[in-house]
Amino acid sequence: MKGTRVYLLSEARGLSRDLLGGKGFGLVEMVWAGLPVPPALIVTTEACRLFLREGAVPGLQEEVRAKMAALEGLVGKRFGKGEGNTPPLLVSVRSGAPVSMPGMMDTILNLGLTLEGVESLARASGNPRFAWDTFRRLLAMYGEVVLRERAEVFEGLLSAVKEKRGVQSDAELTAEDLEALSFLYLRHLEERGTPFPLDPWLQLEGAIEAVFRSWSNPRAKAYRRIYGIPEDLGTAVVVQAMVYGNLGEDSGTGVGFTRNPATGEKGLYGEYLRNAQGEDVVAGIRTPEPLSRLREYAPELYREIERVADLLERHFRDMQDFEFTVERGRLYLLQTRSGKRTAQAAVRIAVEMAEEGLISKEEAVLRVEANALPGLLKPAVDRNKAPEPILKGLPASPGAAVGHVVFSNQGAERYTAQGLPTILVRPETTPEDITGMYLSQGILTARGGLTSHAAVVARGLGVPAVVGAEGLRVAPEEGRAWVDGLEIREGDLLTLDGSTGEVFLGAVPLAEAAGEELLQKLLSWAEPHRSLGVRANADTPSDAERARAFGAEGIGLCRTEHMFFQEERLPWVRRLILARTPEEEAEALERLYAFQKEDFKAILRAMDGLPVTVRLLDPPLHEFLPPLEELREKAIAGDEEAKALWERAKALSEQNPMLGFRGIRLLLLRPGIFRMQLKALLEATKELREEGFDPRPEVMIPLVADPKEAEQARALAEELFQEYGPIPFGTMMETPRAALLASEIAPLVDFFSFGTNDLTQMAFGLSRDDAGKFLPQYVEEGLFPFDPTERLDEKGVGRLIRMAVEEGRRANPRLKVGLCGEHGGEARSVAFVAELLDYTSASPFRVLTARLAAAQAGLRSRKYANT
Ligand code: ADP
Ligand code: MG
Ligand code: MG
Repeated sequence: MKGTRVYLLSEARGLSRDLLGGKGFGLVEMVWAGLPVPPALIVTTEACRLFLREGAVPGLQEEVRAKMAALEGLVGKRFGKGEGNTPPLLVSVRSGAPVSMPGMMDTILNLGLTLEGVESLARASGNPRFAWDTFRRLLAMYGEVVLRERAEVFEGLLSAVKEKRGVQSDAELTAEDLEALSFLYLRHLEERGTPFPLDPWLQLEGAIEAVFRSWSNPRAKAYRRIYGIPEDLGTAVVVQAMVYGNLGEDSGTGVGFTRNPATGEKGLYGEYLRNAQGEDVVAGIRTPEPLSRLREYAPELYREIERVADLLERHFRDMQDFEFTVERGRLYLLQTRSGKRTAQAAVRIAVEMAEEGLISKEEAVLRVEANALPGLLKPAVDRNKAPEPILKGLPASPGAAVGHVVFSNQGAERYTAQGLPTILVRPETTPEDITGMYLSQGILTARGGLTSHAAVVARGLGVPAVVGAEGLRVAPEEGRAWVDGLEIREGDLLTLDGSTGEVFLGAVPLAEAAGEELLQKLLSWAEPHRSLGVRANADTPSDAERARAFGAEGIGLCRTEHMFFQEERLPWVRRLILARTPEEEAEALERLYAFQKEDFKAILRAMDGLPVTVRLLDPPLHEFLPPLEELREKAIAGDEEAKALWERAKALSEQNPMLGFRGIRLLLLRPGIFRMQLKALLEATKELREEGFDPRPEVMIPLVADPKEAEQARALAEELFQEYGPIPFGTMMETPRAALLASEIAPLVDFFSFGTNDLTQMAFGLSRDDAGKFLPQYVEEGLFPFDPTERLDEKGVGRLIRMAVEEGRRANPRLKVGLCGEHGGEARSVAFVAELLDYTSASPFRVLTARLAAAQAGLRSRKYANT
């Protein structure tokens, strides 16, 4: 026995979105809510799946005919056949997958029309022009979508007619012109060997099958791959009685939002096009007017649309994006769905809907995409005042920035000293550029992907950045850059928007971030559901303060190397690297000690009363030296100091610095550095206590791979703890081997902090700096479901973490566990660790994301626990 595969809207209530598709589902709900919807039938996704499997669906045509008979009854017209003064019933054939999916078949309107039908339509409407216009639209749409002729061919024939008649716009064509055009279309399709079926039922059959097949077209497949939509859903087909927005000035078609999708402001928002049919709005042939204009010339209609919008919101309990048509003053709803919105709008809508009592506070918390929050806090380019962008790159770090172009650290320092904002422009960035990146308001690079050094560091710093801007050529030595023929020099003003990737010449006005208050309200609703601690990755007092303002409960990762990179310190770092005698080393360490102690004091003061995890020196020493090439040139030119550095740099240089002489390896073999850093931290703590503060330092060693390393480091630390008293001591867990040996390391430490950047790199055996060459393509081709440098790989890396936590806790029940990679501020990664770890640590601007994501995870797990 075969099940039903075709339903009238009125019969489909209660069936799933999976079966009806999103569009069909929305129509059924609207009918249920009492809204005016033209009668329709839905061919289910099940029929589509069967068709794709078997190439045909036995009995489907009969089922369609039976339901079409019911449709005819509802409308009081015969499909494709006019009778007396009654015009024929025409339908639209529309595709609708369970998830919204551009790339599938375009809608065909006016289907069912034949030559006799045109006559009848002309007679009934008293408007032959309308009738022929309707027919030529059907021929072009059907020709393109079902018979697969190129759209340009139809456009070409249309242009030829317009030219012959000496008119500019379609609107100037007469009924006779459109009739002639229709015959040109018919003849063309005939000669091409794909005649237009002048039988309504054949048209319908062809259109339904074309929708089925469009599920498998390359555009749709590509879209599914990118967005991870299953291949086997299939699409439903909606066959709906036509209503006509092109019957005159009292007709039209439009799109509405129940609230403003950009700002979230409550109230109807949308666009309307008078005397037009569906696709005219999208095609951009004429510019639609704002919906609010209707208030002036059709106030009753406007009120009716407002009433409908209100009903839609009450029914769907979310902001709706709806499509409608007005036929001779009567309103018909044709589609509704939850509207896409900016982060700002999402927060406002969620909070206000909860306050209006439409949704609960918990639902409001769950509705906001946590990953979108950082973009909320940043100003954006004011769209209304922006010129055309000169460049478009990858949106690497959100927010907009205006500043003077600089090409180097020195340039950034010069302008900053004068109190001027800067945009650092580089071919790409390296750790060398950190000062310039830190000082600048924005970063622009010609090369690199979303996980390039520039992108990662910029996000960490919260500096807006556009990377990989193709078409940009940068020559830092010359102090110039070029975009096409345009030359950009140091000091020129540039504006960039790291949320969109756009770059503008000159200073474009920025719109300040709004909605801070609403966000705080949302977070106050979220907080009770969060059990995961949220700390920040911060290296400077100002970052620490910012993080604290965003609600960070401590610092989970304070990197000490950034402190080494500052201008006045680098010479001492370099002396340390060059030291030939213990005395030379001691002198360099002494100077650095003084700097570090002050740094630590400042950051501990900023986080007074909260834990601050300080990671001892991580990168290899050669990162603190200028590039080899530069040293070589200076050395050859006779610079003695450069020569010494060059020799040393050559000796230190590594093929794979990521896997080289760094982290704990360096700290154990150059224990002077270890002692200097730890002593500076302990001394800073002591002094602050004497000043009446409540510092809570923790020390952490990077890159441990073996328990012996942790043991020896602990012994070194204990020497100082003897003198100063102990502080929590932990290891970063960032090598797979450390995770595997967690049970042996755990008894030696007070905490683990999963450094998921390196742990991911090492677990996958890929380097973030080189992954740009293949990772994007890997993701695009579905080899990886997502970029694991961005979102934590739960399967592999997550398994290492879980195992290390479980075995570590077993070996040391007092062990604390946290996470401090880039993933620590990515919502899905946070959700994964929310029940597993004690805390996560995110870059300051991602602290809010982490807080919200952790609360959402708490809410979800509770919801499931209750059901
Ligand atoms: P899309 O998936 O691209 O939104 P739709 O199926 O919604 O395509 O169709 C696009 C437009 O065609 C609709 O917004 C509406 O204006 C018009 N349209 C579709 N069906 C009908 C109909 N039965 N009567 C009048 N216009 C229709
Ligand atoms: Mg479409
Ligand atoms: Mg639509």
